[in-house]
Amino acid sequence: MEKEIEKVETLIIGSGPAGYSAAIYAARADMKPVVIQGLQPGGQLTTTTDVDNYPGYKDGITGPEMMEDFKAQAERFGTDTRWGMVTKVDLSERPFKVEVDEKDTILAETVIIATGASAKWLGMEDEVRLNGYGVSACATCDGFFYKGKEVVVVGAGDTAAEEATYLAKMCTKVTVLVRRDEMRASKAMQHRVFNTPNLEVLFNHETKSINGTPGPVGVESVTAINNITKEETIIPASGFFVAIGHKPNSDLFKGQLEMDDAGYLLVEAGTSKTKIPGVFAAGDIADHVYRQAVTSAGTGCMAALDAERFLADNK
Ligand code: NDP
Repeated sequence: MEKEIEKVETLIIGSGPAGYSAAIYAARADMKPVVIQGLQPGGQLTTTTDVDNYPGYKDGITGPEMMEDFKAQAERFGTDTRWGMVTKVDLSERPFKVEVDEKDTILAETVIIATGASAKWLGMEDEVRLNGYGVSACATCDGFFYKGKEVVVVGAGDTAAEEATYLAKMCTKVTVLVRRDEMRASKAMQHRVFNTPNLEVLFNHETKSINGTPGPVGVESVTAINNITKEETIIPASGFFVAIGHKPNSDLFKGQLEMDDAGYLLVEAGTSKTKIPGVFAAGDIADHVYRQAVTSAGTGCMAALDAERFLADNK
């Protein structure tokens, strides 16, 4: 007998703060959400150590623990959380067709896309070795731990400029490694960078190694190399921040949903609605500016409310 195709009211793709917040609201509204967790269950926060800026956790919490709490809260109201990767979507007609792990098909009345974005890394072994021990891709998340210390930032766009000036407020010295002889960041952001006294920009410099030991000591210094003279400089640093951009995880939706040049999904301003009625986007997949757990959670809530209203109007 042929297997019957599963039908769901609300399918949520992604399990970061946006996905689980959408699930909490959707489950409480009896929309019986199914969450497909994706390659990195819990999302980007599972790669950070302490989270001190999520309201409600007054003593802070680790990223992985916080995401376990999100999941447990969503499941308390009946969310069906599943391992798996969405491998294909067909949004051309409703119910939308979603393929999981290249084998199972689910038909969904509404889809909430919360696939997030991934920080780009330099691709060095040291980044992996010292991740969470001084190496980070998010100054707003982790900068506080480097208060009164020296740090290095890599990158030359608006993110790097913003993170470097943010870090300069709490660190004794910030050194920015820029691979070319100019920054890509806007003139206004560059102005802020060059007018911050404890911030030094080294042009034509790349990272040769990040030196330190995983554990309580962590990062101790960074060896930078001048890509013209080949001269090497050892910069004392407790933190190494990679700020070379993010990649939104939107490849699945290419050709079906509107996105900007960088691949972020476009939504109707002030809502989570994509151009396709019944398909909503929440979290970093549709936000290259704020990228915080709390803003992602907020848009996840919006997506569930938008989906609930859509279902009520289109039963
Ligand atoms: P961008 O793509 O703008 O910049 C990435 C930077 O990283 C570039 O300067 C690039 O150098 C550098 N880079 C890339 N790969 C490497 C590498 N392997 N080694 C060293 N450097 C590298 O990304 P952003 O995240 O900065 O910005 C993304 C978008 O978000 C932009 O449109 C930006 O304007 C926007 N944004 C706006 C903000 C605001 O308005 N407040 C804040 C943050 C972002 P190169 O220049 O040589 O290519």
